Amino acid sequence: MKRAVVLFTGDLRLHDHPPLRAALAAADEVVPLFVQDPAVARAGFAAPHRRAFLADCLADLDAGLRERGGRLVVRTGDPAAEVCAVAAECDAAEVHVAAADSGFGQRREDRLRTALGSAGRRLHVHDTVVTAVPPGALAPQGSDHFAVFTPYFRRWSAEKLREALPAPRTVRVPDSVRSAGLPPGTSGAGGEGAARRRLSTWLREGLAAYDTSQDDLAGDATSRLSAHLHFGTLSAVETVHRARAVGGPGADAFVRQLCWRDFNRQLLAARPEVSAADYRGRHDRWRTGTEAEADAEAWREGRTGYPVVDAAMRQLRSEGWMHNRGRLLVASFLTKTLYVDWRVGARHFLDLLVDGDIANNQLNWQWVAGTGTDTRPNRVLNPLLQARRHDPAGDYVRRWVPELASVDGSAVHEPWKLPEKDRNGYPAPVVELSDGRNRFRQARGLD
Ligand code: FAD
Repeated sequence: MKRAVVLFTGDLRLHDHPPLRAALAAADEVVPLFVQDPAVARAGFAAPHRRAFLADCLADLDAGLRERGGRLVVRTGDPAAEVCAVAAECDAAEVHVAAADSGFGQRREDRLRTALGSAGRRLHVHDTVVTAVPPGALAPQGSDHFAVFTPYFRRWSAEKLREALPAPRTVRVPDSVRSAGLPPGTSGAGGEGAARRRLSTWLREGLAAYDTSQDDLAGDATSRLSAHLHFGTLSAVETVHRARAVGGPGADAFVRQLCWRDFNRQLLAARPEVSAADYRGRHDRWRTGTEAEADAEAWREGRTGYPVVDAAMRQLRSEGWMHNRGRLLVASFLTKTLYVDWRVGARHFLDLLVDGDIANNQLNWQWVAGTGTDTRPNRVLNPLLQARRHDPAGDYVRRWVPELASVDGSAVHEPWKLPEKDRNGYPAPVVELSDGRNRFRQARGLD
């Protein structure tokens, strides 16, 4: 009887799962394994919103496996040690896993390979499980990764993607392998079933207008698939195929965003240290001290006095999600207008986002801060202009800033012009926009 182990990480699904498929082809019985690694929580990456969503994903994966005659095996501990222990318990000759991109994941993969090797077992690492195109598959002459998005997008778009794989019909799991219980909690939103339903609805109802409505803050007309892509309840390969099959300018714009996801992953895989270090240092001497900390706290709490910034920060706290346009403008506000280190903002985002993802979060923060891959690193987004463009009627602000809910139209974006009684205690701006901009330009030596 041949046995194999499949280690699930950021790929919590049964459809389009190359490691599971390969394990089933090679073995009579397979152990689908998820290891809860205490190091993830110790490193501060187990935010409550994500933990609840993860619990849904694991419950749904277990249910999907049970429908196919199997079950999910859950263990807690060091993944390398737990995988070796499970492989020894069922005498599995091989272990299958998705390729890692972060430094954390790459170290886990290395330890796993060594530990399994010394026990005479083989590790099979599969790419295109997490990304559509594998990190490292595309590179310009003389480098191991792309540092600029547009040429990457051109090459990425010309790649032929593999076909999406169906979910297996049956999964036989050896009876002898014990499992700890599934983790408690639920957000009600996670899991492969929810992901596939959302994708189908999105392709049918939202995709066609995406190119014209993706920046509309109040319209909230993006896919909201980010957490599903982060936990891998949806495969990027299948999502790209299905969007392309619908076609049109909306699909093109959406697939372009999925390419940003691959772009960030190929960058992190090549330079894992950029999760904490500047990709391109600008010699910033970010503001620190009591005043800077008070500004950062006002930003976190959504009381900077700039309604569109505060609306977005309050949406983040309430929903564990923020619109991409909001993320761009609040990140610019923190790093440029307030000149506070991007790591302070990235940390807060990771503490709250359901889709909090090292590659996408850290590299988008670096992009906005001008320490990453933006080809215009010193641009400063003006929150007032952004508000007029992307929330012209003020509906987004009124939704999230109750103090200003009775202010009509776009006047809601400039509460400092209102009589005090109409502001209902809404704070004055923490800084004048022109002062913030001048401070930033001076600090970067631009004036
Ligand atoms: P849609 O607009 O429907 O896009 C579809 C998918 O494409 C998204 O689900 C996502 O997987 C991918 N995508 C879209 N925009 C980007 C982008 N700029 N970079 C990389 N991938 C993208 N995204 C995360 O998944 N996790 C994060 O932690 C994260 N942090 C961010 C921090 C900042 C400062 C900024 C500016 C952006 C961040 N993003 C992050 C990217 C983007 O804002 C979110 O992916 C998007 O808002 C999620 O909503 P959606 O699924 O409706 O996106």
